[in-house]
Amino acid sequence: MLDFTRARRRLVEDLIAEGIIKSKSVAEAMLKVPREEFVAPEYRLMAYEDSALPLIGEATISAPHMVAMLCEAIRPREGMRILEVGAGSGYQAAVCAEAIGREGEIYTVEIELPLALYATQNIERLGYSDVVNVFYGDGTEGLPEKAPFDAIIVTAAAPRVPEALKGQLKAGGRLVIPLEERAGQILYLYTLSQEGVWSREKLAYVSFVKLKGKFI
Ligand code: SAH
Repeated sequence: MLDFTRARRRLVEDLIAEGIIKSKSVAEAMLKVPREEFVAPEYRLMAYEDSALPLIGEATISAPHMVAMLCEAIRPREGMRILEVGAGSGYQAAVCAEAIGREGEIYTVEIELPLALYATQNIERLGYSDVVNVFYGDGTEGLPEKAPFDAIIVTAAAPRVPEALKGQLKAGGRLVIPLEERAGQILYLYTLSQEGVWSREKLAYVSFVKLKGKFI
């Protein structure tokens, strides 16, 4: 029988050594959330390999290093309101929930109904529904009724940043999104200063499923 707790600890140690996990809050979050409960049942034994794994249809649960990188990029802190586009399994949202000390609100939107249901079930079963709210819909529209957000995480690759998302970020906020470019996909961190000025930084070359929806 595979010792998931041990495998999880080893993975987190590796991600710290690789410099992907930088903060105590993300390290602790990755140690707390059982990824084996979010992967499709047939992939449980691979839950602590650092790779993406199939969910339903084209969707994949992101690789642990990617989940950690996205979570570090938004600088998690207690009380944050976070929007995620692309709930998938709900794992990224659960890791963010732990990283903000379960104090705050996370809204995660999923465009595919079977996955929206899958994420909802996982979030409820694992006790995250007090922090994480799963919505079925097109995340390229953002979530106007819950905006503005301190951070927005997009977990599918887009041709450009959907305008609606830009409009739903607070001044001082951070938005991470993979964009499709000629050279491949690049993960960008956009920051909006208190004065309302946007800047962006390249974080990594990445590989996400494509973002669907109207407003891209
Ligand atoms: N964050 C997920 C992995 C996401 S994979 C996890 O932790 O498991 C990308 C997901 O984005 C897929 O489930 C896909 O269906 C979803 N998606 C694609 N376009 C979307 C859109 N416009 N709005 C919401 N979800 C979208």
